Amino acid sequence: MADKVKLECTVCKNRNYDTTKNKKTHSERIELKKYCPHCKKHTVHRETK
Ligand SMILES: [Zn+2]
Repeated sequence: MADKVKLECTVCKNRNYDTTKNKKTHSERIELKKYCPHCKKHTVHRETK
């Protein structure tokens, strides 16, 4: 039971990544440090809909 979610850069608000998450193992919002091509650096990306 995996849900598709998008990961949004918390700095520029661009949605750079798609991923899936299992609600049973991840009840809270995902936050990952990933490269943002808009900010041209690694930033925190947060789950969005
Ligand atoms: Zn960014």
